[in-house]
Amino acid sequence: MAHHGGRLTKNAKRTLLVVEDNAINREILRAILESEGFNVLEAENGLEGLKLLEEHYEDTSLVLLDVYMPICDGFEFLKQKRADKRFDSVPVIVATASESRHDEITCLKLGANDFILKPYNVDIMMNRINNTVHLRESASIVNQLTWDKLTGLYSCEFFYRRVDNVFTTINDDTMFDIVCSDIVNFKSLNERYGRKNCDRLLKDLARRLCDVLPGYIAGGRISGDTFAFLIEHQRNRAWVRQLDNVSKGLMGTSLNVKFGVVECIDRSLSVSLSCDRAIIAVDGIKRTFGVDVAWYDDKIRQQQLAEQIIMESMELALEKHQFAVYFQPKHSLRLNRTCGAEALVRWIHPDLGYVHPNEFIPVFERSGFVVRLDLYVCEEVCHEIRRCQELGLPSVSISFNASQLDFDTPDFADQVAALADKYGVDRSLLHVELTETAYSDNPKRLIEALKELREHGFKVDLDDFGSGYSSLASLNMLPLDVMKIDMSIIRQASQLNDYRIVHSAIQMAQFLDLETVAEGAETLGEVEELKALGCDAIQGYYYSKPLTRDEFEKYLAT
Ligand code: C2E
Ligand code: MG
Ligand code: MG
Repeated sequence: MAHHGGRLTKNAKRTLLVVEDNAINREILRAILESEGFNVLEAENGLEGLKLLEEHYEDTSLVLLDVYMPICDGFEFLKQKRADKRFDSVPVIVATASESRHDEITCLKLGANDFILKPYNVDIMMNRINNTVHLRESASIVNQLTWDKLTGLYSCEFFYRRVDNVFTTINDDTMFDIVCSDIVNFKSLNERYGRKNCDRLLKDLARRLCDVLPGYIAGGRISGDTFAFLIEHQRNRAWVRQLDNVSKGLMGTSLNVKFGVVECIDRSLSVSLSCDRAIIAVDGIKRTFGVDVAWYDDKIRQQQLAEQIIMESMELALEKHQFAVYFQPKHSLRLNRTCGAEALVRWIHPDLGYVHPNEFIPVFERSGFVVRLDLYVCEEVCHEIRRCQELGLPSVSISFNASQLDFDTPDFADQVAALADKYGVDRSLLHVELTETAYSDNPKRLIEALKELREHGFKVDLDDFGSGYSSLASLNMLPLDVMKIDMSIIRQASQLNDYRIVHSAIQMAQFLDLETVAEGAETLGEVEELKALGCDAIQGYYYSKPLTRDEFEKYLAT
């Protein structure tokens, strides 16, 4: 018999508690365990076992637990043990008589750490005991890290470990789901209600989730306001109906908890990846009112794959000039001629073909790559302004789109200026479009960045006005030159034949001394309405679609 104890340091005698009703079995176990250098405590049923645990939990390394015993059986023992936090540090190995999957799962749910089969095989038993003791001892060094103090759930790291542990222990095709919860806008709740109240909220929420998710096997706090639970897969998803009650009464009505679920977890993937997927699912519904649970499914997986392809090929794409810049003319209603253009990027991908900006810009925004793309487009624009000059074409301004991240880049204005100078471009011809994503938060930093651009002589256009969350309050704080009215407003006005909203947008722009450009006018009727309302310019299919460079130059020439 080789080194059962090899991994343990032998200097201190460890105590094992054997809970077993059969006296002969107890005697055999005692003999084996003592020969392996353990102290042995014996109990002949669960009740006695709990009594001994109460006295000795601080120096008991492990409980070896029989399932079927009179008076208080193994299940009851586990239940009561689990109810007492002090006993958490003592692991339990359950001895089951036959390979009973049902018993094993029940025990796992109740907190058992491992199983051995009766009759005892000494080698296997000692290995499992030593492994479990070893694991627990190394874990106890970081014991404080095991539990999240606030909620009593596992810490993130230990949740992953615990789930791994369950997967390796339950060796059949039992299926499991992971449920992650997330509080919408937790940060702002923190600000509004204070840290203390929000801590209590997290605690209450964790407790309610434990109550609502039936027989959850493990629960962990994955990050600030994100919890994860491992449950046995339920085809009927019955627990979903319970979720309505979870946030009732917590923090008034302002609490909104959403859930992401990964069903039938692929055990070959890491637990953290499965949790990530649940979180991806929940992120997808964060802004969707009335939908509180999302399942990670094939559609999301496809999206992720596509996103991965985009991420993997974007660097090379820039090098290989796969990003083509198109120019969509803007038509001045007052002068009745082309007065400018917007640069719009397209990706001609060797495998994916033509990729629409709506598909890759958000990915680039998440990865930070958008800054490099935008500067690339900016350079193409400078180049084009220069070419028009050299070709003797009418001089028009050209705008390019800039995202939030551009404005967070400290020397963005300087980089734009360097490009303009490289091509000897009249700076007032270069417009920077502030896309909708850019003006949602951190107005201070944004205002700084816009000021800088204007000090350098560039113009700033507010893109997509009226499309979403653009706050009117921030409008007069932003240093701007042009307001671009979003296509959706024009479309709606045209359909309802009611231009009052367009009218007030134009009036507001005039009040703020901004030029107006209406996006997406497609018909003569729309153009005439806009002209009558005093709109300055139009960028829309009525005049032209986005054009390649050559087409644009021809368009300007006529
Ligand atoms: P955007 O800046 O609001 O651009 C206007 C969009 O409206 C363009 O779509 C344009 O083709 C489309 N459009 C213009 N007139 C009409 C019309 O009459 N009817 C219809 N149905 N559509 C019209 P596109 O080119 O697909 O661009 C979509 C968005 O992608 C842009 O919206 C912009 O936010 C973003 N984007 C494009 N290029 C860049 C870029 O270089 N950098 C960044 N950060 N974003 C970009
Ligand atoms: Mg734009
Ligand atoms: Mg726009």
